[in-house]
Amino acid sequence: MVNRILSFFGSHAPPGSRRWWVALIPAGIVVYLFGATVYVQSQSTYYRVVMKGETLGYVAGQQTVGDAVALAERDASREYGFPVYLASPPSVEQIVTQDRYETLSLQALADRLRAAGDFLTRATVLVVDGQEVAALPSREAAQSVLDQLKARYVRELQSSVKGGKLEVRKVTIRQKVRFEERDNVPVEQVQDAVQVLARLAAGKEEEKVHVVKEGESPWTIASANGMSVDDLLAANPDVDPEHLQPGQELRLNVPEQWISFESEEVLVVSERVPFATRREYDDKLEAGQQRVKQEGEYGEKTITYAIRRQDGRIVDRVKVKEEVTREPVDRIVVIGTKPVAGVSTGRFIWPLRGRITSNYGPRWGSVHTGIDIDGVTGQAVRAADGGTVVSTGWDGAYGYAVQIRHEGGLYTFYAHLSRIAVRTGQGVAQGEVIGYVGSTGYSTGSHLHFEVRRCTSPSCAVSPWPYLP
Ligand SMILES: [Zn+2]
Repeated sequence: MVNRILSFFGSHAPPGSRRWWVALIPAGIVVYLFGATVYVQSQSTYYRVVMKGETLGYVAGQQTVGDAVALAERDASREYGFPVYLASPPSVEQIVTQDRYETLSLQALADRLRAAGDFLTRATVLVVDGQEVAALPSREAAQSVLDQLKARYVRELQSSVKGGKLEVRKVTIRQKVRFEERDNVPVEQVQDAVQVLARLAAGKEEEKVHVVKEGESPWTIASANGMSVDDLLAANPDVDPEHLQPGQELRLNVPEQWISFESEEVLVVSERVPFATRREYDDKLEAGQQRVKQEGEYGEKTITYAIRRQDGRIVDRVKVKEEVTREPVDRIVVIGTKPVAGVSTGRFIWPLRGRITSNYGPRWGSVHTGIDIDGVTGQAVRAADGGTVVSTGWDGAYGYAVQIRHEGGLYTFYAHLSRIAVRTGQGVAQGEVIGYVGSTGYSTGSHLHFEVRRCTSPSCAVSPWPYLP
């Protein structure tokens, strides 16, 4: 057959001509077309998609791979909530084969790329005092974490105030904080603002608290917990170490915070101002009787403090203003002074008016247990307060003496009397005459020796001055 074709062309181009081979071209085309028809029927082209050495599948067109990468990145970004991209594209290998391969749809390949691939993103790294603390999807997310931590800090300050008004003037972060934009950060290292906030708010370590038990001191608590007293007090700046109360809570550590805040606040608290009780005396009201003329009323004052805190602990607290907004009203009690036999008024009167010739206290190497009041023999001596006569009669060096018991555990004793005017067991009213000035017993002249005692014995004598008007 080839011969026949050659002879056919041969009639136009004789052999030996310079372009004899041109005659072969049509024949070549025919051969090629014939062969190609056979080839298409028996072989196909596939693209094998490989990720990290693993075959993900086959696709028919190369374009599908690029589209699947874009789709996988879009789906992953949606899942993470921020833009991500594949760390490296899959490798694609062209395969021409007579075998039949099952091919993947665009979505199926995208899903496999998502499962097998490593994704990267552009992230904002939160750097605190040179330490990388968190990676977030954006600068806005990082800033919102700081903002929310700050808002949370302020909320905790507000909720710690009981019965007062707190104004937070200033909140600053104590560390050096910066944001660092970085490309190609593995998505596993990136956390969203909610996750980062939860982690940072929890603090770096737990707070340890000790509940004070009876008999404990800062020293015993510190040594039992392997710390110094200074560290214990530093962790509890608002605690008075001299007055620990059982049940009180002490911090054993200052839990380190990822983000440490310092704040300046103004606290205004209202406090009650106690009222005073004033006594008025009424000689028409019997001794032992009393009535309330006016009920007391608490006043009110506002106190303004300037407070500085670090991570909620007070480091400085200064009272800047105190203002009484409502004056208290005195409670007025009227006390009866009309003498009644046997009834104490609670207020002494002078048993005798006269010069004090010898005071209570040390005298001549011993103690003078009363005061000497100068007088003239026969002058009336009066009961300093109402009460019951507990003794009368001769009492050695005291001469003739009288002792009276008053309500409230006090006794009065009157000595060197010339004559006694009462009997033991008798009730006497304040100011009632109980005897007369004399110089009986060990005495250098007419005077009254007067004692106040806390029991009937001279050894219980106390200074009479606080009781006398
Ligand atoms: Zn005396």
